[in-house]
Amino acid sequence: MTEKPLVLLVEDNADNRVIYSTILRHVGYPVAEAGTGDEGVRMARELLPAIILMDVAMPGISGWEATRQIKADPSTAHIPVVALTAHAMAEDRRTAEEVGCDGYLAKPIEPRRVVDEVARLLAPPEPVGA
Ligand code: MN
Repeated sequence: MTEKPLVLLVEDNADNRVIYSTILRHVGYPVAEAGTGDEGVRMARELLPAIILMDVAMPGISGWEATRQIKADPSTAHIPVVALTAHAMAEDRRTAEEVGCDGYLAKPIEPRRVVDEVARLLAPPEPVGA
């Protein structure tokens, strides 16, 4: 079995980190974990993961600000970021677009949906005009 690409999980809540990282590892993704936005930005630059799952509500810099920094850095701007938000609010959806998020999941998030969203964003593009 080939190694799946690295997922960086940025989430301040330890219980959520365990839930999401456990399901991702179960289906074969290696997972790096960060507990703060600053740590997430630093690990994104160091590890260059294939995709980032970004909790929005965190102490220190928010997931929105961390995403802005990741998308403003040419070395990490290409990495897809999925926002994990507390509410499916229209304002959150707008902010996710503004800061450059590639996907959006509203909590409570069924673990299977985390896996589906990662797989969707990492899937090779469909051939165009085939
Ligand atoms: Mn949080």
